[in-house]
Amino acid sequence: MAAEKMLKFVSLGKEMPEKRAAETRSQDFHEIYREYADAKAAEQASRCSQCGVPYCQAHCPLSNNIPDWLRLTAAGRLQEAYEVSQATNSFPEICGRICPQDRLCEGNCVIEQSGHGTVTIGSVEKYITDTAWENGWVKPARPSVERAESVGIIGAGPGGLAAADMLRRAGVQVTVYDRYDRAGGLMMYGIPGFKLEKPVVLRRIEQLEQSGVTFVLNCKVGEDISFDAIRGQHDAVLIATGVYKVREVTAPGSGAKGIVKALDYLTASNRKSFGDEVADFDSGELNAEGKRVVVIGGGDTAMDCLRTAIRQGATSVKCLYRRDKANMPGSQRETQNAEEEGVDFVWLTAPKGFTGGEHVEGVMVQKMRLGAPDVSGRQAPEVIEGADYIEPADLVIQALGFEPEAIPTLWNVPELAVTRWGTIKADFATHSTSLPGVYAVGDIVRGASLVVWAIRDGREAAESIVNYLGAGRQIAAE
Ligand SMILES: Cc1cc2nc3c(=O)[nH]c(=O)nc-3n(C[C@H](O)[C@H](O)[C@H](O)COP(=O)(O)OP(=O)(O)OC[C@H]3O[C@@H](n4cnc5c(N)ncnc54)[C@H](O)[C@@H]3O)c2cc1C
Ligand code: SF4
Repeated sequence: MAAEKMLKFVSLGKEMPEKRAAETRSQDFHEIYREYADAKAAEQASRCSQCGVPYCQAHCPLSNNIPDWLRLTAAGRLQEAYEVSQATNSFPEICGRICPQDRLCEGNCVIEQSGHGTVTIGSVEKYITDTAWENGWVKPARPSVERAESVGIIGAGPGGLAAADMLRRAGVQVTVYDRYDRAGGLMMYGIPGFKLEKPVVLRRIEQLEQSGVTFVLNCKVGEDISFDAIRGQHDAVLIATGVYKVREVTAPGSGAKGIVKALDYLTASNRKSFGDEVADFDSGELNAEGKRVVVIGGGDTAMDCLRTAIRQGATSVKCLYRRDKANMPGSQRETQNAEEEGVDFVWLTAPKGFTGGEHVEGVMVQKMRLGAPDVSGRQAPEVIEGADYIEPADLVIQALGFEPEAIPTLWNVPELAVTRWGTIKADFATHSTSLPGVYAVGDIVRGASLVVWAIRDGREAAESIVNYLGAGRQIAAE
């Protein structure tokens, strides 16, 4: 391939796909970035320096072969670019949309490090795969041999779905169980449409169905069916249930009405986008319209709540975070998007309690400063005495993170080993748990993490499961 097609970073600047104006995009739940035009995608891909040691690839959890698909895109060989991209990633268009690239591939791009502005890797990845969908290049798995063995996957989030994809490609029979009425996990009901439009997830699920994956929805393991029964029905089991136990503020007044949990709030909003009836939204409890909203927390979930509240028509939206902007866990790019849309970040603040009676009327706010580093090396926030004030609020959303539920107890399986944080103990490479034939992946092993890590785990676990099943028994493919 012509070398002159690449290395254009010296003469060509970094250009993200066009971002919709803040005033327009904050009125709806559509994604905020438009697609690259063909010529622009090729041009931006051609900025890659094709460096000898691709740090972008090393910092992509899936070790995506980024320089190769950038080179093919620059040359207009899009179908080949797609083939290379999908070889290591079950859902590249999803990662291209929602990976925090500034912390992963793009943050480590060599031309970014040399001050030229990163290659827009995520946007090109999204462009390649969206183009592949438009052209019918994305095909359901059609294994050359069907195997008799079956695997039960508990949890239809990205970890479970990536494993389902790989297992079907190997011809294994797959049943995915999920307690929700739709598959997709947090990609469906947690992450809002302005980051990831739902049809993008739905078409993947439809394709998994076409490839022969059976979905059993509205089925909560531990209640509707026992874990033992699932183990009895399948040759191997994969646990991919995510983490959903909410960390709550325990302060005076925290039980008042109007103080809600982030995921309840986001799920209601996502359900409304499907046209579902959501009683707590319709009653106003989980709807920010016309309200002064305060969100507590500084991670991705907080960011999504803030931007959802703006779109629902809140009169004001404030974020309380106990550290400063440089030390917040959420993506800097998402923070900038939120600021543009009208979110007011009140750095170095923490809730001390809540005012009001039955219903919340305000947050008692403590001002903080950053002190000496704690055991984790991060500067610990300290209270500034005598600087408290009250922030008026009609709706307070708690977004302080998630912890694992006590699966061994809930599922009556005490032999399933967990860590001291309550996450399931699984081997890093094989993802096998303390129970023979039982594997675990994604947030339930890592704690709250990222879609891309769940995909990696799911793909790796599928490979281990195929090894575990051994030669097995083949049945004729249809
Ligand atoms: C609001 C929010 C925004 C986020 N934004 C981003 C982002 O921008 N980028 C990013 O990379 N990551 C983001 N994340 C993190 C990402 O969504 C998770 O890391 C990822 O979804 C974890 O995948 P998983 O497959 O482990 O679990 P999940 O996606 O949580 O899926 C688990 C599934 O298991 C099901 N389940 C649980 N218990 C049972 C049971 N007993 N029986 C049957 N089914 C069960 C659940 O219903 C669910 O469908 C965000 C998370 C949140 C909460
Ligand atoms: S999967 Fe995520 S980290 Fe890897 S190349 Fe794509 S956007 Fe970057």
